Amino acid sequence: AVDAGAVLAGAAHHFPDRVAVRDGAQTLTFAALHDRALRFARGLREHGIASGDTVLLLAPNCLWFPVAYWGTLYAGAVVSPANPALPSAALAAQIDDSGARAVVAHPGSLSSVHGVDGPGPRLTVVVPADQDASPAPEGRTVVAAESLLGYGVAERTTRHPDDLAHLAYTGGTTGRSKAVRVLHRNLVANVAQVSWVRAASRTVLADGVLGVEQDKERATPWHRPPGSGVTLAVAPLFHALGLASLVANTLVGTTTVLSSRFHPERFLADVDEHQVSLLNGSPTMYRALLASPAATGRRLESVSVVNSGAAPIDPETWRRLAELFPNARITEGYGLTEATVALVLHPLDPDVGIPAGSVGLPLPDTELSIRDLTDLEREVPAGESGEVWARGPQITDGYHGRADLTADQFRDGWLRTGDIGHVDDRGHLFLSGRAKDMLIYKGYNVYPLHLEDVLAGHPAVAAASVIGVPHRDAGEIPAAYVVPRDGATATAEELMAYVAERVAPYQRVRELHFVPALPVSAAGKILKTELRSQHAKFAP
Ligand code: ATP
Repeated sequence: AVDAGAVLAGAAHHFPDRVAVRDGAQTLTFAALHDRALRFARGLREHGIASGDTVLLLAPNCLWFPVAYWGTLYAGAVVSPANPALPSAALAAQIDDSGARAVVAHPGSLSSVHGVDGPGPRLTVVVPADQDASPAPEGRTVVAAESLLGYGVAERTTRHPDDLAHLAYTGGTTGRSKAVRVLHRNLVANVAQVSWVRAASRTVLADGVLGVEQDKERATPWHRPPGSGVTLAVAPLFHALGLASLVANTLVGTTTVLSSRFHPERFLADVDEHQVSLLNGSPTMYRALLASPAATGRRLESVSVVNSGAAPIDPETWRRLAELFPNARITEGYGLTEATVALVLHPLDPDVGIPAGSVGLPLPDTELSIRDLTDLEREVPAGESGEVWARGPQITDGYHGRADLTADQFRDGWLRTGDIGHVDDRGHLFLSGRAKDMLIYKGYNVYPLHLEDVLAGHPAVAAASVIGVPHRDAGEIPAAYVVPRDGATATAEELMAYVAERVAPYQRVRELHFVPALPVSAAGKILKTELRSQHAKFAP
């Protein structure tokens, strides 16, 4: 039993000279990152941040992110990641709710930080130093991260596995964002579970140093041995998926190339230049990549694993990814912030086939239970659909300051995911959508996800999202929002007819709107709440 800081401390011991992170021409080895994190921790302590305090991390994907992240953990403090684009009011809410004493912010976010009303954060650390810092309100200290490193190194503060590591705000896709209490043991367990599947490795503790050992019996050429591989971090590190990937890659000694903004051409160039072997991203990102002319006819041969998560991926995107990355296994993972990040993953072994459309098999020590939607106490048999519940060491401690919500979502060790799905008789999980997205047409359950997959198969469709909208006679009807592909000319009637030929009559799309883009969250999820309010505003 170790704390999350042991992950970087272990990597610095086992892979000191490997590049841990790269940002443009700048790199840090695992040993250098460890050293900076120790200094950052010392600097935080010198500025009054103590073990158990919360630090808001408000930075884009840059070299300072991992330094501040590990430095905060090394100080024994709790990391609360936040979107650097948050306006002052939202930032104030997160500072207030999390009780953050310090904020680590990029110069671009400083005016929002300074704009927070009330006492606000006691300490603001600017990464990297701003040339022209706007004045901080009275009573708040602003320091440049560079100067924070100047106090020297000190031992890291270790925490108990049951202590809080992250206060992770959920994406807010379905409503108000809430803070999930991720404990040190949740984080360590989840990255170990993922590396068991991805690297065929087991964590070992020798002389107090955490490390991983590959199980040679289980390893295939797809399982990278510890201390190898390069990944590209384009997904925001402040989101659960990006952050947990950073920690998982640290555990196994994989190099992370940081990219602050997703741009298809830049992305393709980075993959080539750094011989990237592993990609992790959202379907939204992959669709944007595939839609770019820069990807046409390209074959990126260095990549051996492409993983998609955070939202459902349609078969057409899946197929086209396989063309762009001819040597890669295209895989999928499923999870949520309440489960640290990952619950289910595709194995890499080519001989363990995953049926098309399944998000994969539960991670080791993870159990799934599918519950009857009308009687949650009842588990339904394989093949039947219901709410997905999960149990395992990565299931977090609940929501911060929300006992009511915690009691509702976390029951006797089980997490209610709010997703609907079924398992087949071999345990593969299939998702049909989020409970909140399901609509009822004349008494029939309709899953928007199924309709989105069908629409995505039409050549004129670049992206599609389906929501249920109120209807006088039917109760609700499925309404589609479609982003047309460049130069496509199909009409709404043609697309609705295309769907009608492929689904049961009660599932037909009854309304279809063309839009230039869909609203997406920073993590790449389509914001259906926004589509619903748009629809409510403009509906006749
Ligand atoms: P909030 O819970 O506040 O609405 P959010 O949904 O964005 O925010 P996350 O924890 O980031 O919070 O998202 C988890 C959800 O993402 C899952 O419950 C599931 O609906 C969806 N998801 C994740 N991976 C997949 C996947 N591979 N396929 C389908 N859906 C997925």
